[in-house]
Amino acid sequence: MAKPEERLAQWLRDAHSMEMQALKMMEGQVERLENYPELRARIRQHIDETRGQADRLEACIEKRGTDTSALKDTAGRMMAMMQSMSGVLAGDEVVKGSMASYTFEHLEIASYRTLIAAAERVGDDDTRRVCEENLKEEEAMAAWLADHLPETTQKYLEREMAGVEAKR
Ligand code: MG
Ligand code: FE
Repeated sequence: MAKPEERLAQWLRDAHSMEMQALKMMEGQVERLENYPELRARIRQHIDETRGQADRLEACIEKRGTDTSALKDTAGRMMAMMQSMSGVLAGDEVVKGSMASYTFEHLEIASYRTLIAAAERVGDDDTRRVCEENLKEEEAMAAWLADHLPETTQKYLEREMAGVEAKR
């Protein structure tokens, strides 16, 4: 049976892999959002935040004595789900992308809540603080996306009606 310490180490690696996935997804989105400058700017901000989150997680993992060279191994697990929601082929990718991002932020929120509880159990205060910091950024991003989903949707529909390239 795995000890709490081992579970914490595993969940930290999973979270790191999740952040790498988030980066990949957002970097792809940001390229295609020229008609949605506000959304694009907020995603750019979150890309920077996400890089910081991944670095902080890596520091936690290293400090706990786990080899960080194995971090890449778990990357890509959520790829299928994100691709199916991306809407690239459906044409309404800005809307599907916003939905996918909102969903992904909640996956991150759940992950950090879990990690905070595990770090508390193990008595790793640094990891708990890092996860609380990351959690705040995910909650802020989720709230922003929720606030702007209606606007993004309506702008998309307007553009589609006007016959301009509404896809993005
Ligand atoms: Mg994140
Ligand atoms: Fe996030």
